[in-house]
Amino acid sequence: KRKTAPNPELLAENLMKGDKAALARAITLVESAHTDHWEIANSLIENCLKKKTDSVRVGITGVPGVGKSTFIETLGKNLTASGKRVAVLAVDPTSSKNKGSILGDKTRMDELSRDANAFIRPSPAGTSLGGVARKSRETIMLCEAAGYNVILVETVGVGQSETAVSSMVDFFLLLKLAGAGDELQGIKRGIIEMADAIVINKADGANIKNAQNAKIEFKRALQLYPPKDNGWTPKVTACSALENSGIQETWDVIDAYISLSKKDGSFREKRAAQNESWLLQTIDNHLKTDFYSDKNIQATLAQLTKEVVQSKVSPFRAAELLLQQRKNETK
Ligand code: GDP
Repeated sequence: KRKTAPNPELLAENLMKGDKAALARAITLVESAHTDHWEIANSLIENCLKKKTDSVRVGITGVPGVGKSTFIETLGKNLTASGKRVAVLAVDPTSSKNKGSILGDKTRMDELSRDANAFIRPSPAGTSLGGVARKSRETIMLCEAAGYNVILVETVGVGQSETAVSSMVDFFLLLKLAGAGDELQGIKRGIIEMADAIVINKADGANIKNAQNAKIEFKRALQLYPPKDNGWTPKVTACSALENSGIQETWDVIDAYISLSKKDGSFREKRAAQNESWLLQTIDNHLKTDFYSDKNIQATLAQLTKEVVQSKVSPFRAAELLLQQRKNETK
């Protein structure tokens, strides 16, 4: 038997007191696939939005093995030591209970997960990128309402997930390893354009010299790109997540960006633009979900698909018929 429906006001109240269990429960609600949970999730978010928050959202990407979890653990511990409250989320559409999914492994970020001022949430499993991204945005808001003032959003360096993450954060960070010269080779141009900083990890031991060279290479290469709309030129740092060197310098870059963008108003503008685009995407999602989950539409769609495949009806005509049917039904 299902538990009684949670009370969104009460849950929001406990969450805003910083109760981690309430936060976890709220996120589970937001991630729920039950349509009868959506209304509760919505009023929960509404309740949480009343709280004024002052957070920094940072996206972190890089190929598997580059050191993302190690970096996040070290950065996270430094931040909590300086009095910040850190939430770590993942956007990983491939995530499942199988190994290979980011944040799936309990041993990762072991110390940070035991830190009273940190909250780690794995990626919701078994959904499309769109689904994961939608839930992540709402999860960010819940974490902020719970008093987390640094939100780290991790994603793997594959597919469209970077675009999704960069559209929900204030600052986007690309982790790289030192290679052999020609540093920008093999990085998708789009990722470079999204990055506000490139961080060369594993700058330790025998690798220090390579990392310093890579840093120079990246700096030079980045000069070929135009500055961001707000005039920011992406910075390059080198660090060792393992030895906690260069991590503070990397945070200083983020901090400098945030102060600058708050001063010139671009921080607010970016968030406003993100909210606007999210509004439109949400409407888009709902319209599609409503349409495709309509049983009558499903039947007609199946029928018309056959006819379209057999060239009996044109795709345009079929689409028109379906949209008209839906319109008549919802009258
Ligand atoms: P992720 O897949 O990007 O999350 O990478 P992980 O954080 O799991 O790290 C992959 C491997 O690289 C692990 O064996 C880490 O111990 C190692 N590693 C991570 N950061 C560093 C670093 O700064 N220096 C060195 N030498 N190894 C590192």
